[in-house]
Amino acid sequence: MGFDEMDVDTIWKDGEFVDWEDAQVHVLSHGLHYGSGVFEGIRCYDTEEGPAIFRWDEHADRLYQSAKPYELEIDYESEELEEATAELIRRQGLEECYIRPIAFFGYDSLGVSPKDCPTVVAIAVWPWGTYLGEDALENGVEVKVSSWRKHASSQIPTNAKTTGLYVNSMLAGEEARRHGYVEAIVLNKEGNVAEGPGENLFLVRDGEIYTPGLAESILDGITRQSVITIARDLGYTVHDQATISRGELNTADELFFTGTAAEVTPIKRVDNVTIGERGPITEEIQSRFFDVVERRTDEYDDWFTYV
Ligand code: PMP
Repeated sequence: MGFDEMDVDTIWKDGEFVDWEDAQVHVLSHGLHYGSGVFEGIRCYDTEEGPAIFRWDEHADRLYQSAKPYELEIDYESEELEEATAELIRRQGLEECYIRPIAFFGYDSLGVSPKDCPTVVAIAVWPWGTYLGEDALENGVEVKVSSWRKHASSQIPTNAKTTGLYVNSMLAGEEARRHGYVEAIVLNKEGNVAEGPGENLFLVRDGEIYTPGLAESILDGITRQSVITIARDLGYTVHDQATISRGELNTADELFFTGTAAEVTPIKRVDNVTIGERGPITEEIQSRFFDVVERRTDEYDDWFTYV
């Protein structure tokens, strides 16, 4: 669904609330030409106590950390951005939504050096259902191992959520969809499993849980961190610095993706290999995840900011 069909009309840009149509940038903005921006994807869930933003602090922290290697100065404190987000949600009367903060080098000159380009900071919120589809949450998705590899972290910081990195995600995802799959799995330069184009990956084998470690060219997902905590609290052993070979995908008992957009989505097939319907451990973790984010439990309350 396009933005025009959504009931949203306000964007926060550089300290001000502006009309949706007025949130414009110049075509010669540095960030547009060179992908020199950083962003976040955050969810706000509908709960009994009203809209609740999931793990704002961790997302804001990742935004500032992502900006560091690029020397992109974000002149707003986390609290200011959080308050702007809450105000956007209140003003537009949203009960649940996706939140997209972005900061990038703006308009001044187009040398590769962004030295005089100002930082543009904006936040938009809009209603957005689960990324890979409601049906996918229950029945799982079919995925294709991409012919494109992830950038090595010696080539570009893959643990930073940088706009330019997402052309790799786009190539992998579109290739998979062109072949009739819903999403891709992307291997790292060594040929081991990294992640999805916009998701982390978890594997279940013999009752234990594995997810690629931070040295495997992944983004350290906030959902990944949350699922690791939830799974351990449920009593599972989680190997969170695993190296997973491509072949291990085929012998997994269960596989699932995690991400702000995709939430917890089971994977039922990888290329020609059937993994199976949503497995019991995936189902338990997924159901616990939704109990947590929709606040049907008091636990993990410090993960939420009530709007
Ligand atoms: N990996 C990539 C490449 C992503 O874009 C995302 C989405 N931000 C994730 C993993 C999952 O991260 P998170 O759980 O923080 O959304």
